[in-house]
Amino acid sequence: MKDDNCIFCQIIERKIDSKIIFENEKVMTFLDIFPISRGHMIIVPKNHYLNLEDIPDDDLAEVFKIVKKMAKLIHEKLNLDGYNVLQNNFTAAGQVINHFHVHIVPRSNNDNRFKLKIPRIPANDKELNYTLELLKG
Ligand SMILES: [Zn+2]
Repeated sequence: MKDDNCIFCQIIERKIDSKIIFENEKVMTFLDIFPISRGHMIIVPKNHYLNLEDIPDDDLAEVFKIVKKMAKLIHEKLNLDGYNVLQNNFTAAGQVINHFHVHIVPRSNNDNRFKLKIPRIPANDKELNYTLELLKG
């Protein structure tokens, strides 16, 4: 399953050069060409799936096995203090390429790249119950 207009499918088929770190039968990992930090990589299934809801469970499991493997690799090989695992779905959430993918972004203490400390508002019990009803009803 490929989409000829998809940049990740073209990378997987080696029609576009990329810096491939790892691949197996189902998954490929390559360096992001607009990295947030050194070692910022993208993990993709070799089949073209749009997003989290579109990817079958077995391919999803394989992708996340490799995410874990790559996380250990960068932790061992790069001088870093942590990493973010990011996965965006749909435009509203910042998905730019419509081929399911996971980012691993290496982080250092005080790297000043981005913070996930977003202001949060305490919910009241009524609001939580309403949300629960929406999700479970
Ligand atoms: Zn694709």
